[in-house]
Amino acid sequence: MAQTRTARLMDGTGLARRIIETSSASAADILRHTGTAPCLATVLVGDDPASVTYVRMKRARCEKAGIQSRHVALPASISTSGLIETITELSEDPGVHGILLQHPVGPHIDERAAFEAIAPEKDVDGVTMHSFAAMSFGLPGFVSCTPGGIMRLLEEYEVDLAGKHAVVVGRSAILGKPAGMLLLGRNATVTYCHSRTSNLSAIVRQADILLAAVGRPRFITGADLKPGAVVIDAGYNPGNVGDVDFESAKDRASLITPVPGGVGPMTIAVLLAQTIDAARRRLGVPGGSPRVSPTSPATA
Ligand code: NAP
Repeated sequence: MAQTRTARLMDGTGLARRIIETSSASAADILRHTGTAPCLATVLVGDDPASVTYVRMKRARCEKAGIQSRHVALPASISTSGLIETITELSEDPGVHGILLQHPVGPHIDERAAFEAIAPEKDVDGVTMHSFAAMSFGLPGFVSCTPGGIMRLLEEYEVDLAGKHAVVVGRSAILGKPAGMLLLGRNATVTYCHSRTSNLSAIVRQADILLAAVGRPRFITGADLKPGAVVIDAGYNPGNVGDVDFESAKDRASLITPVPGGVGPMTIAVLLAQTIDAARRRLGVPGGSPRVSPTSPATA
């Protein structure tokens, strides 16, 4: 008879709440020491309903945690140079500690050029080339928030990554690619899969740690998994459905993130933690760094 197991759930909601509580206490500490509240500037181009909702959620979370939010709403018709000018002003403004440019920004805008106008010390969303390079070299810096949240979850559940085969399905600049780099920094052996990968199922079946970041509902099923695998589902598809078929995967995995309540809540938590870190550094307030280390102690 085939042996089945039920995986332990990785509770992103609870961990995110604890990180936000810590950020909130830190925001109060910074205000007490300096008379200045940490401040995150959000920049929104146009009025795409999903982007409007995401920015509103991020601002509400910030304000609840004692992080001031400064919002800049720009018309969809803004040019690349107009957007760069706005972001440069925020980069130079000493009252702003972190900058978030909500993307996508529209096809007529050079998104990369706009991201690069964010000062590295304010890149709390981890979107600049500077941040990506620092992370890849194992140097301190801000990490892309969703991969940073995934690493926090793995740490929380004491998943030993050294020497383990981590398979990352998806290679986007904000998710799959940086997540793979962070896993490599913790000494996992990393394989990236993408839309041109041959024999994807056979590779996924080798994964000790599987990260699904594809954007396709229930793309990975339990039958694809190595028994005992740690399964991180970053997918968020319409109807609250992940990229992993949770029902079949939970009987095969040892640990698994639910959707919703797994990776999703961690993204905002890391954004807040990194904003606090940026404010502490700018204002010279010492305190525990909530940064996600890009490397394991063994390689740092
Ligand atoms: P994306 O930019 O569309 O990238 C999707 C990746 O999946 C690409 O690298 C693509 O390969 C790969 N892919 C697509 N079809 C594939 C297939 N049939 N076989 C293998 N690989 C395939 O998406 P993303 O922004 O990384 O997001 C991925 C998922 O994560 C989405 O569900 C998104 O909603 C979710 N997400 C969640 C959060 C959060 O806060 N929880 C944040 C960001 C994203 P190619 O590179 O070859 O095209």
